[in-house]
Amino acid sequence: MAGTATPMMAQYLALKREAGDCLLFYRMGDFFELFFDDANTASQVLDIALTSRGEHDGKPIPMCGVPVHAAEGYLARLIKAGCRVAIAEQTESPEEARKRGGSKTLVARDIVRFVTAGTLTEEALLEPRRANVLAAVCEVRGVCGLAACDISTGRMELEECAPEALPATLARISASELIAPEGWDGMPAEAIPRPSRDFASDEGEARLKAVHGVATLDGFGQFGRAMLAAAGGLIAYLDHAGRGHLPLLLPPVAQDGATRLAMDAATRASLEVLEAQGGGRAGSLLAAVDRCVTGAGARQLAEDLSAPLTDKAAIVERLALVQWFHADPLLRADVRDVLRHLPDIGRALGRVVAGRGSPRDLGQLRDGLGEARRIRDHLAAKPERPALLDRLLPSLGGHGALTDLLSRALVPSPPTERGQGGFIAEGHDAALDELRLVSSNSRRAIAALESKYRDETGISALKIRHNGVLGYFIEVPARHADALMAPDSGFTHRQTMAGAVRFNSLSLHEEASRIAEAGGHALAAEEAHFEELVGEVVAARQPIAATAAALARIDVSAGQAERAAEGGWCRPEIVAEPCLEIEGGRHPVVEAALAQAGERFVANDCALSTADRLWLIGGPNMGGKSTFLRQNALIVLLAQAGGYVPAARAKVGLVDRLFSRVGASDNLARGRSTFMVEMVETAAILAQATERSFVILDEVGRGTSTYDGLALAWAVVEAVHETNRCRCLFATHYHELSRLAETCDALSLHHVRAREWKGDLVLLHELAEGPADRSYGLAVAKLAGVPKTVVARAKSVLDRLEKGRAQTGGLAAGLGDLPLFAAAAELEEEQCDELRERLQALDVDALTPKAALELLYDLKREASEG
Ligand code: ATP
Repeated sequence: MAGTATPMMAQYLALKREAGDCLLFYRMGDFFELFFDDANTASQVLDIALTSRGEHDGKPIPMCGVPVHAAEGYLARLIKAGCRVAIAEQTESPEEARKRGGSKTLVARDIVRFVTAGTLTEEALLEPRRANVLAAVCEVRGVCGLAACDISTGRMELEECAPEALPATLARISASELIAPEGWDGMPAEAIPRPSRDFASDEGEARLKAVHGVATLDGFGQFGRAMLAAAGGLIAYLDHAGRGHLPLLLPPVAQDGATRLAMDAATRASLEVLEAQGGGRAGSLLAAVDRCVTGAGARQLAEDLSAPLTDKAAIVERLALVQWFHADPLLRADVRDVLRHLPDIGRALGRVVAGRGSPRDLGQLRDGLGEARRIRDHLAAKPERPALLDRLLPSLGGHGALTDLLSRALVPSPPTERGQGGFIAEGHDAALDELRLVSSNSRRAIAALESKYRDETGISALKIRHNGVLGYFIEVPARHADALMAPDSGFTHRQTMAGAVRFNSLSLHEEASRIAEAGGHALAAEEAHFEELVGEVVAARQPIAATAAALARIDVSAGQAERAAEGGWCRPEIVAEPCLEIEGGRHPVVEAALAQAGERFVANDCALSTADRLWLIGGPNMGGKSTFLRQNALIVLLAQAGGYVPAARAKVGLVDRLFSRVGASDNLARGRSTFMVEMVETAAILAQATERSFVILDEVGRGTSTYDGLALAWAVVEAVHETNRCRCLFATHYHELSRLAETCDALSLHHVRAREWKGDLVLLHELAEGPADRSYGLAVAKLAGVPKTVVARAKSVLDRLEKGRAQTGGLAAGLGDLPLFAAAAELEEEQCDELRERLQALDVDALTPKAALELLYDLKREASEG
């Protein structure tokens, strides 16, 4: 019962009610303590000791704690584990509490902030090369609205989509925290429910206007009701998480889904765009392409790859900048050298605006903005600049007054802690310099006092020392203490320790007071300067964010050029007609993996056009079919992201949607059978792919029985060819599908080549025209080390099956009489005939009982051997 709770527990429980399902970090002196279930959770996640403190309702209260100075590291681990944390700080000092209500008064505490995955700004809690997105989603009259922002840099995007397209849109945004209105039917499983009243579109509009101090949003673009509703939910949540202190929010940008290459979650996962299948960046396309030298550049590249463009002019503009850097290796190296040492000004700005900035952040802005201007001057001096660069250059400058101010005001390497002062440079403020002079004079005076007292008392071990409790004091070894104890000695006793005694003196007290007073004033002066500098930065937040964005784009372009130079990549030609002509295409991830093993990647061509838009690709397992499919999809993706591509030549007809489907990929974690997933995803492609889309289908149909699988694969190819009419690469093991070439005029047959040499299979990884001559499953099995006896047995079964297939006319007789199982039945039939013949030839009367018994044993053995 709360009635029996101690005052502290009552305070705790009230705060916990406010914290809701967040863990409550309850500040007690130098620790954040957690109680009850929170303590159980945190001690498990953090692997720290669980103790208990007092009792509640007659039971001990579980408790654990983390030291305040190390809290960031613990917070990082809790957030990673999916927790959210409310921080309850002491809002007054114990002295203030005592003054307020007597010696037993509880220190007031309040939740000052909610720390959640999407609302982080701290350097230590963020991954430098990864954006951290908080998103809000809701539905207004059948339209889904999304608001996404990265508060570490302030970027905010609003978007609308149809409810069916929501999963794909969420997959692109890849938020680390998602909120949605409570009680909404369409609420995504991973969303955190928030009060639905926060998601009102008129409220949202009003909040956006208030944040940006404008009377109309027209200057920022056109926003639909659903976008505004989502924005409202997002801002309300940020307001709640920051307890009324909003982080950096730049003007919203309306995102039009149609200007982005659409990819659903399955396609992203299968192409391993930002993460490899097993999770993690290693092995992903991003990791294979990323040569950015700044965190902001790496974040921009990830954004480019997850949302490639569909607008030719915009793509070509990016390509031109990459080419400019590609053509001038020296310039590229210079720029990259400067960028490499640049602080992350976007995130420093985010912290400063969120009210969590430090003097070091101001120092980073000073250095970063100064360097940006130097980069501008360097690049502006170059001739024949591409249009995109000319648009970016002005954003790199214009901070002269601010950088001058920061340079004058700050010491060269300002500290991360502002409470101790010491970050305002000498010469910036005469009064502050004066205060510091007083302190240092007094410090000198104290040093002089020490030697004076030593001389006067003859105690050479006498020291003047300082600690947080007593301030300055004189200390002598206990055996000399008597001399100073005398009433007329001029010293007053303060403390007796085990081996030493501590004293004060009038002169020391005077100097110490002077230091304390000057120090206090100096700190207050530094604090005032800090606030003023923060104010200047906040006022310039938009141009500073623009500088950060321009630097990131330059880093991406120079990095893409670097990657292209390193791998011999080419600038793709972007055209409107639906074609895909790749000469010497390569898969960047597979190529890099092979290179590490000292092996060479075999480049392959692809040539899709309106007249020949569907390639059916056969050939042995491990022959390189999947690799070929994926490399072409990746080349499209890279090209439309505005980068060079791993090919000798590439002509890419703009793609509106990209689909990648792998037969029977494992998705048991999502609770669906693999074949079900395969079919759901195939259905999505058939429903969505247009004449401008590019689809790769890898062994669709293999997840079910041969008959069903082949029949489905057959029907899917026909539908893609006749109805969707998109560009498509279709890899399959079903030879039978090659008959489709007779009826589908825009379909052609290809295979990855292999040779059998001295009984061994040699995979050439080379694509050739025409159907695969035969299957190589058994040879691959042998290559994989399947026991010889099993391979031999499979061979004899195969021979029988093929014999059966020849007799029934195989698939040529139509889909209805597929031979595989018919042949198996025939095999049994044959065995029966054999048995009948043997029985008929038997002269039963001539058999001895022993021979009859042996024959029975033989028959039994043969039957069990099959
Ligand atoms: P399966 O039918 O079993 O899925 P597959 O034909 O799709 O096989 P991949 O998975 O694409 O074959 O390739 C198998 C392996 O062959 C790759 O991991 C790679 O090591 C190698 N490989 C694929 N393509 C090439 C290539 N073009 N050059 C060199 N090696 C390649």
